[in-house]
Amino acid sequence: MKNWKIIITCICLSFLLIPKNTEAITLKEYEDMVEKYTAELREKEAKMAKNDAEVAEIKAKISNIEKQIKEAEEEIKKLEEEIEKSNKEIAKKEKESKKLLKYFQVVSNENTYLEYIFDANSITDMIYRISVIEQLTDYNKKIMDELERLIEENKKKTVDLNKKNKELENLKSSLNSEKERIEKETRSIEGTVPSTKGQIEFYKKQVSYYKGRGCKSSDVIGVTCDIPPKPAQKPSGGNENVGTGAVIGTNGFRQPVVGARISWNYGGAHKGVDFTKGCGAPIYPVAAGRVYYKGNTLDNYGAFMILIVHNVNGKLVFSQYAHLQGYNVNIGQDVDIGTVIGYMGSTGYSTGCHLHLEMSENYGWAYNGKYNQYTRSIINPFKYVPR
Ligand SMILES: [Zn+2]
Repeated sequence: MKNWKIIITCICLSFLLIPKNTEAITLKEYEDMVEKYTAELREKEAKMAKNDAEVAEIKAKISNIEKQIKEAEEEIKKLEEEIEKSNKEIAKKEKESKKLLKYFQVVSNENTYLEYIFDANSITDMIYRISVIEQLTDYNKKIMDELERLIEENKKKTVDLNKKNKELENLKSSLNSEKERIEKETRSIEGTVPSTKGQIEFYKKQVSYYKGRGCKSSDVIGVTCDIPPKPAQKPSGGNENVGTGAVIGTNGFRQPVVGARISWNYGGAHKGVDFTKGCGAPIYPVAAGRVYYKGNTLDNYGAFMILIVHNVNGKLVFSQYAHLQGYNVNIGQDVDIGTVIGYMGSTGYSTGCHLHLEMSENYGWAYNGKYNQYTRSIINPFKYVPR
C-alpha cells in the first residue's frame, strides 16, 4: 500500500511540474493583436469618412430643396398678388360696366333724357352711342371673363405649388432624419476610437517590450523567452535584508509587508488580500520574479500598481501590488524577496493606506490573454503566500 501512495504522489507531482505552455502566449499573438486593432481602427476611420461624405451629400440635397421651397414660396406670393390684382381689376370693370349699363338703361327707357345725357344731335347719333355702350359693356364682360379665368388658373397653380412644397418639406424632413441617423452612428463610432487606439498602443508596447527582452515572434512569452526567475527562500540579488520578522515559506514565497495586519481577506467581490500597516511601509514582492508593469494607467481609479510575473516550476504566477505611493523598481527588473519594490499608499479607490495584493495563475493582467481570462485566473494569494 505504501508503494501506491508513492506512485500517486509521483503522478500528481509530475502533473504539477508540467508547464502549461498552451495557456501562455507567443509574441506573434501580440503582433497579431496590433494588426487586428490597427485594421479595426482603419475600418472605423473609413466608415466615418464615408458617413461624412454621405452627410455632406445630404446637406447639399437639403439646401437644394430649401432653394426650391423658397422659389416656390416666392412664386406663390407672386401668384397671390396677381390674383388680388385681377380681383381688383374685375371689381373696377364691374363698376364701370354697371355705370355704363345704368346709362344704357336710362337712355333706352327714357327718351326725355336722351339729349341731356348723350348730348345727341340725332337719333342716329343716339343709336351709335348706345351701340358704343353695348360694345363697351360687352368688352368689359370679356375682360372680366378673361380675368376670372386667370384667377382660376393662378389658384390652381398656387394649389399645385403648395402641394409641391409639402412634398419637398417631407423629403427634407426624411433627409434630415437620415442625416441625424448617420451623424449619430459617426458619433458612436468616434466614441470607440480612443479605446481601439489604446489597444493598439498597449499591444505595440508589449511587442516592443518583449522584442527588447530578446523574444522572437514564435517565442512563448515567459516560457521560451524572458523567463522570470524562480522563487527562492534566499534573496539572490545580494540583498540579504528581507526585513526583520519576515514570514517566508518553504516554497520561496513570503508575505509582502513585514508585521502587517490583514484588514480584508480574499473572498466574494474582494479578489485579493489587504495588508495594512503605516503609510510608506516597505513592500516586498511575494517571491522572486520580474516586474512587467508599473504605473497608474491600468486601473480605472488610477491606483499606482506594480505587476510581477513569477516562474513556479515553469508555471506562470502573477502578483499585483496596488494603491502604492511610490516605486522602487523598473519594468523588466528582476526582483527577489529582499527587494523593496515600493511603498504602501492610498492611491486609486482607497480610503486609507494599505496594500491590495492580487494573484493569478497562467494569465496575468496586461501580460497575456484578455482581461476576463485574467479575472477568471485570480486565486487566493494564500495558495502560495505563507500565512
Ligand atoms: Zn483590497
